[in-house]
Amino acid sequence: MSATLTGRITEIQRFCIHDGPGIRTTVFLKGCPLRCVWCHNPETQRAAPQLAFTAAACIGCGACVPACAQGAQRLAGGTRVLDRPACTACGACATACPAGALELVGRPVTVAEVIAAVERDRPFYLQSGGGLTLSGGEPLAQADFATALLAAARAAGLHTCVETCSQVDPAVIDRVIPLVDLFLCDLKETDPERHRAWTGVGNQRILANLRRLHAAGAHMRLRCPLIPGLNDREDHVAGIAALARELPGIEGVEVMPFHRLGEGKRARFGLGDGPAAGIQAADPAAVRAWKERLAALGVPLLAA
Ligand code: SF4
Ligand code: SF4
Repeated sequence: MSATLTGRITEIQRFCIHDGPGIRTTVFLKGCPLRCVWCHNPETQRAAPQLAFTAAACIGCGACVPACAQGAQRLAGGTRVLDRPACTACGACATACPAGALELVGRPVTVAEVIAAVERDRPFYLQSGGGLTLSGGEPLAQADFATALLAAARAAGLHTCVETCSQVDPAVIDRVIPLVDLFLCDLKETDPERHRAWTGVGNQRILANLRRLHAAGAHMRLRCPLIPGLNDREDHVAGIAALARELPGIEGVEVMPFHRLGEGKRARFGLGDGPAAGIQAADPAAVRAWKERLAALGVPLLAA
């Protein structure tokens, strides 16, 4: 795979300690086949680039207005206004903005650029047992780019993790298995109809891919989001326990309590109130009770 192959990412986040072992650099790839109502990273759902605006950083200078060939930017009473349907996400306004209030998220980057950024923290990986994590979005939705990144990381001797929703072509799973040290597999909802209602797709392919990974001997963890009022049900807890018994080779299960940080991101991308607007953050007592219930059913729990 070529080091010049490009893909779309939203962010390279350094010093992550919740995306696999040790200190890691997490690369968020853009695009996802799911539309989880509780999505923490709504800016990664669409594959195409998107313009982000941070209102608090805007100084009202108006430099973005003439920069936009589409006439999508204007000032009204000193306030910058964006006509999002007219925006083609060219990024010219972000280049012109002197205050860093505008950012084009999802520009193409090469494999070599990403690996160079990841390499900066190699000493921390060596000390802590960390490395590179691909997340998103669904990283395997950009199959060629993700495969090339993982191959380059492997060639550089870096530990590799992939956080995946597993709603991907099984052939892609087979391609990346030899390149991944640890899969962090989301298991959002065990009831297929609820899964469809809350993510846009059923969970049949996801479950089949989890079984595929397990049968291939892949190192894997299950990551289970706890969404108050949606999947905090006894039958889902029992479903997780049943799957954990069926896949005894998994390292364990991480419980991922819902938080509301994704809502702030929605505002930056002009996405309006999300469907998670009415969902409360998981409170610590509920998280404890969920973990106790899982442990009582024999589920091996890991600190997330
Ligand atoms: S990204 Fe391009 S099209 Fe969109 S508002 Fe900025 S200059 Fe205009
Ligand atoms: S160029 Fe930047 S700081 Fe100036 S009005 Fe536009 S968004 Fe605000």
